[in-house]
Amino acid sequence: MQILDGKALAQNIENAIQQEVQILNKRNVTPGLAVILVGNDPASQSYVNMKAKACKRTGIYSITHEMPENIQQESLLQTIAMLNQNPNIDGILVQLPLPKHINTTAVLEAIAPQKDVDGFHPFNMGRIFANLDGFIPATPLGVITLLKHYNVSLQGKNVVIVGASNIVGKPLSALFLNENATVTLCHIYTQNLAKHTKEADILCVAVGKPNLITKEMIKEGAIVVDIGINKLSDGRIVGDVDFSNVSTQCSFITPVPGGVGPMTIASLLQNTLKAAKLRTKKY
Ligand code: NAP
Repeated sequence: MQILDGKALAQNIENAIQQEVQILNKRNVTPGLAVILVGNDPASQSYVNMKAKACKRTGIYSITHEMPENIQQESLLQTIAMLNQNPNIDGILVQLPLPKHINTTAVLEAIAPQKDVDGFHPFNMGRIFANLDGFIPATPLGVITLLKHYNVSLQGKNVVIVGASNIVGKPLSALFLNENATVTLCHIYTQNLAKHTKEADILCVAVGKPNLITKEMIKEGAIVVDIGINKLSDGRIVGDVDFSNVSTQCSFITPVPGGVGPMTIASLLQNTLKAAKLRTKKY
């Protein structure tokens, strides 16, 4: 069994981004990311802090707009409209989830598609499903980048994804399809989940339930990508896969933490750099 070391690869990607940012700086261009954080959810705050720190490490300018939990949707939309026009901002990211009184779709659709570095705007989502260039959501992009780095071939493989959210499972299914894999997308209504997971050459899990995937659900030699992030009552962070037992059964596996998480942040930085290059046409 080999570990898919997302932490190490993310570090390499960050180093490459840092060098590209320095080249852009010589042309008086600094990529800029604006992050909007609504409310005080500790997990969201922690993710936003990690993103800001990663920007700082690579020389990307970042600004966080913190808004109270009871912010009116109109104020949020006005902030996005202002950022859409701001020439120093290449990427706009709204940290999800948003409070219930805010229409998430309306907010995501307000972001200019060319600044949609999270890739959640239906314009970019549509381009992914049509296998056209666009902004790919950071977590699915990170998963594919990690597998390719370890020379995992995707063509013709049986890929099973558990979890069908708009931000992870669905776009990830499109990316695997674009790589000519055969994709099964499982969700809460999927019957006999184990029957599907046992067929997987590559199993990706993005649900948010510790130990959802056990050893008995894995085919011998499968590649397992654990996207879940769960905080246990004792403070430990674990994924959705029973790592200690499943890892004895598979050929490759991502650890949590240190797998997909760092790749997500690195992919967001890549998208921000791409947006800056597109804006300034400095390819
Ligand atoms: P989400 O929006 O809650 O989606 C979870 C998906 O799993 C939904 O499609 C849900 O179906 C499905 N599901 C729930 N219980 C299931 C079950 N027992 N069997 C099969 N499918 C089930 O969550 P998300 O935003 O996609 O995130 C999923 C996990 O990934 C979370 O732990 C999150 O923290 C983590 N995550 C990690 C990263 C990273 O960088 N590593 C990035 C994003 C998310 P229904 O919608 O029908 O209930």
